[in-house]
Amino acid sequence: MRVSMEDHVGKSESDAILGLMELKRDPLFRRIPEERRGYYVERSLAFGREAAAERAGRPIGEWLEREGISVRIDDSSGSMFGTALRAQIDWTAAVPRITVYRESMRQLAEAASVFPEMFGTLTPERAADIHLAHEYYHWLEYRSGTFTKDRLDPVETRLGPLRRRSAVRQCGEVAAHAFARDLTGLPHLPNLLDYLYLMHAGELKKENFDEEMEKCRKALGVGGRHMV
Ligand SMILES: [Zn+2]
Repeated sequence: MRVSMEDHVGKSESDAILGLMELKRDPLFRRIPEERRGYYVERSLAFGREAAAERAGRPIGEWLEREGISVRIDDSSGSMFGTALRAQIDWTAAVPRITVYRESMRQLAEAASVFPEMFGTLTPERAADIHLAHEYYHWLEYRSGTFTKDRLDPVETRLGPLRRRSAVRQCGEVAAHAFARDLTGLPHLPNLLDYLYLMHAGELKKENFDEEMEKCRKALGVGGRHMV
């Protein structure tokens, strides 16, 4: 089985598509008007890229050390209710701490090795760096007091006669992916790794993945209309 983003789009466009796939996971996604989806994806990607550009040239480990963030590698499976945990950050303690699940990193590396055209050789250590960078972005959001979702327009939701404006949380994930991608020099947004993992594990069919990618490509007007 061969998967290539180039089957679908050029590399520069893969970010927008994978960004939209992440945005789709937001519970409010259906509340976002179609023509506004590109705005949330592109702005979130830009926030992540900007933050990475400010920190280019140093490995993630150095940034964590500078900020006094501790790292713990957890040897438990990290699976909870059938969902594998990859990494998480706890900033409530005196010393903020990122936990990375070793088995999960091994699985991602294994899945990536089945699709070498996507990420090349990806060691578990590199998978861990990607996740450390992702969590570090959330730390930067937390420390600055402004989360990505709050830097973007809220969407209007209605419950009967009640109207409220809610932030689109998943934007923080899109930005964190873009940050991790740029800081660690990946060819694609790292959420693609999760899809490779699911395909390798037989939990996602390649046809369905391709279909979803194609839907996102069309929705964004990649290759046709201008994106935002
Ligand atoms: Zn995250």
